[in-house]
Amino acid sequence: MRRKLAAGNWKMNGTNASLTELQTLIATHPAPGVDILICPPATLLVQAAGLSADSPVMIGAQDCHSAASGAHTGDISAPMLADAGAVAVILGHSERRQDHGEESALVAAKISAAHAAHLTAILCLGESLAEREAAQTLDVIADQLRHSLPDTATGANTVIAYEPIWAIGTGLTPSPAQISEVHRFLRSELRARFGSEAATGFRLLYGGSVKPANAPEIFALDDVDGALVGGASLTAADFSPIITALENA
Ligand code: PEP
Repeated sequence: MRRKLAAGNWKMNGTNASLTELQTLIATHPAPGVDILICPPATLLVQAAGLSADSPVMIGAQDCHSAASGAHTGDISAPMLADAGAVAVILGHSERRQDHGEESALVAAKISAAHAAHLTAILCLGESLAEREAAQTLDVIADQLRHSLPDTATGANTVIAYEPIWAIGTGLTPSPAQISEVHRFLRSELRARFGSEAATGFRLLYGGSVKPANAPEIFALDDVDGALVGGASLTAADFSPIITALENA
């Protein structure tokens, strides 16, 4: 059985003052029926990990370098994230692919680095609007999955988040049928590569404008094991009902 996961990506948002949101979330969900992960900016990792230490809420990061250490000014390695208290790291997010020109080969190297540091990698993939309109969605997803996912990936160390680029931060969401089609396809691609039993272990998240209002419909879909949530994870008032919807799905 795959345990469901509600993951929040704070992106480049949050200062010390924002940690009150994390405290509220921890107080609101003392014994959640799903996994909860908050990925604050790197500047807040140590404080966030400290606050959540005795709670079920886990802390993750938003990126890492592919090397464990070295002359890479401004970068942070996977072992450093683990040392700061992170248990997971988001990799291959479309904003990293767009803003920093990250290609799938680099994402694969970063995921390997995350695995070596015993971090769970959350691999993000998804198509642009132009690719969807050109009926290339499944080809794009297949290509990203093939080239971003290293052979070390297992259901225990890797989560896959389907995040259509056109749905991120836009308020647009794919139809339930569109989400289901991609998740079914991801599962079949994983089966073809890792075998049926291993493929069953990978959690598949949906991400892109998940809100309290649309969460129940999305979580009711087969093969949706949770969500990666951006904007609606910034406040406990928004994220908490999403967690509850996942618990009730
Ligand atoms: C994200 O950036 O991973 C995301 C899903 O953002 P939002 O929920 O704001 O669309």
